[in-house]
Formats: sequence, C-alpha cells, structure tokens
Amino acid sequence: MKKRRIAILGSTGSIGTQTLDVVRQHPELFEVELISAANSVDLLARQAREFDVNNVVICNEARYEALSEALKDSDAKVWTGVDSLCSLVRGEAVDIVVGAMVGFSGLRPTLAALEAGKIVALANKETLVAAGGLVTKVMREHGAVILPVDSEHSAIFQCLLGAQGNTVEKIHLTASGGPFRTWDKKRISGATAADALKHPNWNMGSKVTIDSATMMNKGFEVIEARWLFDVAPKDIQVVVHPESIIHSMVEYTDGAVIAQLGCPDMREPIGFALSFPARISVGNRKLDFATLGKLTFEAPDLSRFPNLRLAYEAIERGGNAPCALNAANEVAVAAYLRNEIGFYDISRINEHCLAGLNFVADPTLEDIFETNAEVARIADGCIN
Ligand code: MG
Repeated sequence: MKKRRIAILGSTGSIGTQTLDVVRQHPELFEVELISAANSVDLLARQAREFDVNNVVICNEARYEALSEALKDSDAKVWTGVDSLCSLVRGEAVDIVVGAMVGFSGLRPTLAALEAGKIVALANKETLVAAGGLVTKVMREHGAVILPVDSEHSAIFQCLLGAQGNTVEKIHLTASGGPFRTWDKKRISGATAADALKHPNWNMGSKVTIDSATMMNKGFEVIEARWLFDVAPKDIQVVVHPESIIHSMVEYTDGAVIAQLGCPDMREPIGFALSFPARISVGNRKLDFATLGKLTFEAPDLSRFPNLRLAYEAIERGGNAPCALNAANEVAVAAYLRNEIGFYDISRINEHCLAGLNFVADPTLEDIFETNAEVARIADGCIN
C-alpha cells in the first residue's frame, strides 16, 4: 500500500492522540502531513516534532506566537485560524482527513475536505447532526467519502459490508447507558460533572463523556446513522448494552442480525478508517469469549434520559431542528462542566430551544450558521 498522508483536525484531543498512537505503530503505512488544535500549544508542538509534521495549525490566533516560538527550530510550517486549516486540508499532500474536532467547530474544515474530494475519517458527529443533509450532499457532489470513526457507526459500516445489495430492515444502535444507567431520577438530578465524567467503558473527551451521561450522545448517533446510512430514524433502534462489547448491529429482512464485537477501544475503529479496506493491528486487547461471561441488553429509559427523546423529535422534524438541538446542547454542556447548571438543566435548555426554534425546512449553510449562533445566544440566556 502507498503511504497514506493524514491530516488530523483536533490532534491533541482524545481521538486525535489515539489516532497518532495508531500511526506510531505503523510508520510504514502512514505519515502525518497536518495536525491542528484549538489551544493546546505544548502538546501540538511535541506531536509536530515526534511525527515530523509539515503543517501545524493552531486555531486560536492568540496562541500563534507561542506555537511559532515552540517550533522555531523545526521544519514545520506554523499557521493559525480556521481559514488556514480549511485551505490546508484541500491540499494535494493530504489523502485522509481525520475529523476529530469537538462540536460545531468541525463543520467548516470537514466541508472543505469533502469539497476537495478527500476521504474523511469522521469522529466529529456534531458536523452530521448540525448539517447532515448539506454535508452528505457535498460529499456526493465531489466524489468524497466519509468513513465513520464513531465506534457504533464503524460497527454498522462493517456489518453492512456483507449486505450484498440487500436493504437494511433495522439498525440496532448499542449504548453503554453511561455512568447513571442504574441511578434513579432523583439521584441523577443531583449528579455533578465529576460524577458524569466517570464513564464505565470508554476513554473519551469531556464533551462526549457528558453527552454519554445524558444520552444526548446516543441521540446524536441516531441522527449520525440516519445520514451515514440513509436509514429512516424509526428504523434505528437504541438498545442499552452495558458491557459495550457489541458495538452495534444490522438486521436484514429475514430477521438475521449481524453484529460487530470487540473490546471497547477507539483505536480499533480509528485503525479501520485509516487503513480501510485493510485491517491492521492497533495494540488493543482481544476478546476472550471463555471469560467474557454474559452480554446483557435493556430498553433505554426516555424519562430519565429525555435528551434521547429530543434527538428523535429533532430528526423527525428535520430542517434546522437537529442543528438547534446541537447548538443548545453545546452551550448547556459547557455550563454544566463549569458547575453552573444542574444535570437536568441540560435537557431543559435543549427542549426550550427546540420549542422556540425559528424553523427552516431546507436550510442553506448560511441558515445553519445563523441557527447555531441564534440558538447559542438563547441557550446562554437560559443559563444567565
Ligand atoms: Mg459512539
């Protein structure tokens, strides 16, 4: 295989560092052309040196001087701002773009990569939640490809490789249930950010870990699956599976269900997206069925986790509703992480913003940015 040249958008976060760990294990397969971060100068500079990266982008312009200083005696070119990032990902020297930025901020660079016909290994689900219709349209128009990095969607993608043209009857999207799966509503309502950050199975960034605790993450994954696999939301069923061994399943007309299994480790879906269709070793633990014991399943509880219900409502409504839900949730989760609001205030703010939405049925990119900004303002108002 020709060496694949990778751009990692968000290289200092959880997905970014795990992507670099996969690359570190396979210098014969990959080289890192570009890395970017919002603010983390020190780690970004260390990564640039270790992987001999050609282009390094710090999105926060206030940190540009510090990064230039940290890399002044290296060969790396240092850039700042999202515009630089968008033009660099379009470059000839990039084969695969790993979209690992957090939240809505990933939308513009992802669109730039798709417009340039790149392979995008997408971990940044908010991009598809906020603008799934537009993003998949741009992908098709430019012959680009999105390979899922989210573990559930990587699993579904793998289960679909055996479809042989048959239509999918149903997707079973598995959920760990998060740290509050067994807590009653009263106890959950008093949960702090520190409680919510203790995820039982997965090692992830703080935004997605809070989203897992509220099950907003699973709701967003329903929306993500709707766009990636073109399956109606009603045919995407969430099932709580606390062991996180089955990463999701696809059901066909004859009732056959194909599942993808593995130990929970994000390096597995990352490695598959980077090396697709080949499979490579990624240093993860392997399943031992003899000691695994039993796998259990239960229905999700929409009363204790209202964000999951809101996600179905938003995608059924369509238009800019999922964008609004994402915008409200980003603001609410940030406030919860700062201990400014309670756990159920997150879903309350989300519901309030969805109800008061200035609905646009067929949003343009401009509408999406406007909705995001407007709803963020409304959500901010709820907090203050
Ligand atoms: Mg996931």
